[in-house]
Amino acid sequence: MRLLASGKVRELYEVDGERLLMVASDRISAYDVVLPTAIPDKGAVLTALSGWWFGRLAAAQPHHLVSAVAGVPEEFRGRAMLVRRLSMLPVECVARGYLAGSAVAEYAETGGVCGVQLEAGLRDGDRLSEPIFTPATKAAAGEHDENVAFDRVVAAVGGELAEGLRDRTLAIYAEAAAVAERSRILLADTKFEFGTDSGGALVLGDEVLTPDSSRFWPAEEWRPGGAQPSYDKQFVRDWLTHESGWDRRPPAPQLPDDVVTATRRRYVQAYEQLTGLRFADWSEVS
Ligand code: ATP
Ligand code: MG
Repeated sequence: MRLLASGKVRELYEVDGERLLMVASDRISAYDVVLPTAIPDKGAVLTALSGWWFGRLAAAQPHHLVSAVAGVPEEFRGRAMLVRRLSMLPVECVARGYLAGSAVAEYAETGGVCGVQLEAGLRDGDRLSEPIFTPATKAAAGEHDENVAFDRVVAAVGGELAEGLRDRTLAIYAEAAAVAERSRILLADTKFEFGTDSGGALVLGDEVLTPDSSRFWPAEEWRPGGAQPSYDKQFVRDWLTHESGWDRRPPAPQLPDDVVTATRRRYVQAYEQLTGLRFADWSEVS
């Protein structure tokens, strides 16, 4: 298979004209830099979680997943998905139900996010009165995505597709947030990527609703008014910010074993708590 692209975390192979293989590695990134230390099983956990959501959410239809088993070479089994090849739209489709991350500073400056005005007095971590669509343009490697207003999406893909992106993003978010809440997890925000198929239909692509593409917060620990503990990279970020002395310029330092172990446990826990299933790594089931 021909390697089409290698991202921070995943490799994309061409299977044939219609299908691709998306392989998730155990690499982890923080502050947009890939760390030199891998998190064991991360690729498998994220692949399994993404597949679980694809199968579960009505609003996720149509999506690109063809199979996680049939047609997946042995060496990638458990952390790869065979998908329909799409023509990807250059928009990171973000839905937010809570104020967090890049939205906090933007709200402080403009009173809104991506041109959507929000009520006054919101704190970092507060729930929004209704979920909002806050698109971003996909940045080149090494750069940060840029939040943009809806009319920039219209300019990029046309009015009809832009509305389709917004409506589907908000619909999937609403359905997923309700599912997550039943597992005592708040889906603060999440990012989707869509493409069009050969018939021009809008199809959900990429990975979905994983800790890498979403902010999951344990509901019991939700305390608006500051940064929330997150499900995945919290230990990594804490260690990088408070203990490593790293200046956030590549290369990043090696993670200590206890941070790796705690982080792996968080990824597995997110999967198990959301799905109600036990995570069995591939070596266990094969
Ligand atoms: P990074 O995530 O490191 O910023 P990236 O998004 O380019 O970089 P990955 O996320 O690792 O890289 O790789 C996934 C790539 O595959 C993305 O470019 C994504 O847009 C693309 N992609 C996802 N689903 C499909 C699909 N069905 N057809 C074609 N391309 C797809
Ligand atoms: Mg990506």
